[in-house]
Amino acid sequence: MIAIEEHKLKDAEGKVKISFQETPNVSGPFSSGLPDTIVIHYTAGSSAASSASWLQNPKAKASAHLVVGKKGEIIQLAPFDIRTWHAGRSSWKGRSGLNQYSIGIEIDNAGVLTQTAEGYMTNFSKLVSNKNVVLAAHKLDSNQRGWEAYTAEQIEAVEEICLALVETYNITEIVGHDDIAPSRKRDPGPAFPMESLRNRVLFGRDEDLPDEPDDTLDELAIVSADNLNIRTSPGTGSSLVSNPLPRGTKVKITKTQGGWSYVKTDIEGWVSNQWLRTV
Ligand SMILES: [Zn+2]
Repeated sequence: MIAIEEHKLKDAEGKVKISFQETPNVSGPFSSGLPDTIVIHYTAGSSAASSASWLQNPKAKASAHLVVGKKGEIIQLAPFDIRTWHAGRSSWKGRSGLNQYSIGIEIDNAGVLTQTAEGYMTNFSKLVSNKNVVLAAHKLDSNQRGWEAYTAEQIEAVEEICLALVETYNITEIVGHDDIAPSRKRDPGPAFPMESLRNRVLFGRDEDLPDEPDDTLDELAIVSADNLNIRTSPGTGSSLVSNPLPRGTKVKITKTQGGWSYVKTDIEGWVSNQWLRTV
C-alpha cells in the first residue's frame, strides 16, 4: 500500500520502488485547499530514468511530481505541496493554468507511434513489438493510430498513487493532459484506461461491476445489431464491459437515460437504444 507522509510517497511494505530526486523546476507552494486535480501524462521518452533526468534539467523548463516506470517503479521529483510545471497552457472547467491546481503524473510511455515498413516506431526510432501496440483513434481525432501499450504494473501503480492522493488531498478531478490542452496534447491517449481509473478512484466503482441502477423498468428486448457494444456508462466514450452482444441476444431493460438503456443478460451494462428491438 502506498501512503503519503510529509507530501512524499512511502510504501510501508517496501513492495514498490520509490525514489526521490528533487527537481529545481518548481514554483512555490499550492494555495490553501489545493491541489484538487490530478493530471495524467505520458513522457514520450525512452525510459523513466531519462525522462526524470530531463525534468530535473533547468533547460527543460518542465517538470512533474512523479514519473512512473514500466515496472511500476516511481521517481518523485517534487513534494506534493509544491507546484510543478507539467500542464503548460491549459484550462479545465473554467480555470486556466492547471499547474496551480494539480499534481502531474508522467508515465514512461512512447505515446503515439509511426507506422513504418518494419512496424510501429517510437519518436526515438525504436520498433515496438505488435503485442505492445494499441490501435485506436484518440477521442479528439477520427483516424486510428498505433500507441504504445501501458504495462499492467504502471496502471496499477498509477491507481495506487491516485488513491493515496485522494486520501491525503481534496482531489475531485482526474484528467488527461489531452483534456486540459486539447489543441496541443494527446497524452495519455487512448491506450490509457482513464475512465476506469476515474471510476475506481473517485467513485469507488469497479468497472467490471457497474453500479446497480434502480430497476424501474422491466422490459424485454432483442439485440438487432451484429455486435452491440455494452458499456460501463451511457455514452460512447465509456469503457466496454465485455465483448459486444451478438445479434439476437435477449436482454432485460431496467433503466433508460438519453438514447441509452441499461440492460441485463448474463452480463449487464449500457447499450445504445437504436439497436434494441423490444418484444
Ligand atoms: Zn503531458
